[in-house]
Amino acid sequence: MNIPNKGIPMDILQEKLDAYDQQDLSWHDGRTWGYVYDPGRKAEEAGKTAYMQFLQKNGLDFTIYPSIAQFEKDLVSMAASHLHGSNEVVGNFTSGGTESIMLAVKAARDYARANKPEILEPEMILPITGHAAFHKAAQYLNVKIVPVDVNPVTFRANPDLMQQAITKNTIMMVASSPSYAHGVIDPIEDLGKIASTHGIWFHVDGCVGGFLLPYFKRLGANIPKFDFSVEGVTSMSMDLHKYAYTPKGASLVMYRNSEYRKYQLFACADWPGYTVINSSVQSSKTGGPVAAAWTVVHFIGDDGYLEIAKRQYEGTKRLVEKIKQIQGLRLMAEPDLCMFSFTSDTISIFHIIDEMRERHWYIQPQFAFGPSKENIHLSVGASNVQWIEPFLLDLEASAKKASSMESGQYATAVKEALSGWTPDMSESDMLIQILSKAGIDFHSLPDRWAPVNEVLNALPLPLRNLALKEFLSEMFGPEQP
Ligand SMILES: *Cc1c(COP(=O)(O)O)cnc(C)c1O
Repeated sequence: MNIPNKGIPMDILQEKLDAYDQQDLSWHDGRTWGYVYDPGRKAEEAGKTAYMQFLQKNGLDFTIYPSIAQFEKDLVSMAASHLHGSNEVVGNFTSGGTESIMLAVKAARDYARANKPEILEPEMILPITGHAAFHKAAQYLNVKIVPVDVNPVTFRANPDLMQQAITKNTIMMVASSPSYAHGVIDPIEDLGKIASTHGIWFHVDGCVGGFLLPYFKRLGANIPKFDFSVEGVTSMSMDLHKYAYTPKGASLVMYRNSEYRKYQLFACADWPGYTVINSSVQSSKTGGPVAAAWTVVHFIGDDGYLEIAKRQYEGTKRLVEKIKQIQGLRLMAEPDLCMFSFTSDTISIFHIIDEMRERHWYIQPQFAFGPSKENIHLSVGASNVQWIEPFLLDLEASAKKASSMESGQYATAVKEALSGWTPDMSESDMLIQILSKAGIDFHSLPDRWAPVNEVLNALPLPLRNLALKEFLSEMFGPEQP
């Protein structure tokens, strides 16, 4: 494809945009569980208005755009009190949870470089339920992940095992409030004590839960201490573009005090161009997301969020209680927030997901990992709650239908192919063999995903990651003639 010779008028482009738009999930109708965080039309409009007004401004230079710095400072200040921080807590606005985590890991690494220079191969202790973004940060920043098993029943981090994982190279410890996959909060107080005792940086990932948990607590949910009120907590990440319902590109990374945050900041006068001072990974950046986040938080307000949280809290209780009663399904763990997962020991969950898709529901598969067998994840947002009863009816019907469908043949094909894996065969050759044996190609998006999901689920980890990267590379490869 080339850049068009002549510019195309907007009315024609609009038709094309609309055609592309049609291909996507229609997210407004609340039938997508996860991916979208829909605050309702009014708050959405408020966010869009602010977003468009500040879209073209550049957060690169807050001396020229003080508005953008002010939005950021206000959001950080609100977050600090929301998370029970003292007036020493500092933080910054970022483009998302991944960037917040990236920055916290960088700060922890560079803090260790300055204060524990004898550590040459830094390690991060991560419960296996920690978000993939920590693996990404570790890969980018050259920190080694030390994965630690969790309680196989509750899926919470195990403080004894976390403590045992400490070595002379440990630079940080991570826990989640709550974890995305199972929606459970790690024992932050116990872990905070261990971190303090050993003088280790402790990051609490409140990306998905940080904003909402205080509201669940006010509604009577049994929420343990999970934030800066716990002494050993050094830093936290908290997304706004999840349960603060602000448009995407909005998260916060927070530190107990500016001494820790120092290691996040970047300044560079070592070149002939303009002086660069960045608090985040991005340099030039639109003012849209921060203006929109500021506006939506003010628009909804504390009472509005409490109201939304109440719907999520009650909706989740209803779903959990009902799903437990559907034949063949079982809950993975009792959740602390409005996200949880369930599975089956008799029915292929991948068929259930496809059957639900036929009924226009979009729910996420989570593959088997450690003690967590493959399962279905639900995140219950404000716009989903109205659909709980029809959703449950369809889920029951889908489980019933799926229970009579053939499954396991792809997993068997994978196992057979793997049994012929000789040391001279590379991982990618092995993968090619497995995929051809299972009859899977990655050239287009299928209608039914169960075969692909079953294969991915059955692949051993290195091959699973390899397959996913191949898929990504295919999807964004050169245009086929
Ligand atoms: C969503 C999430 C992240 C990553 O956030 P992105 O905004 O998708 O980059 C990190 N941790 C947890 C617990 C999350 O739920």
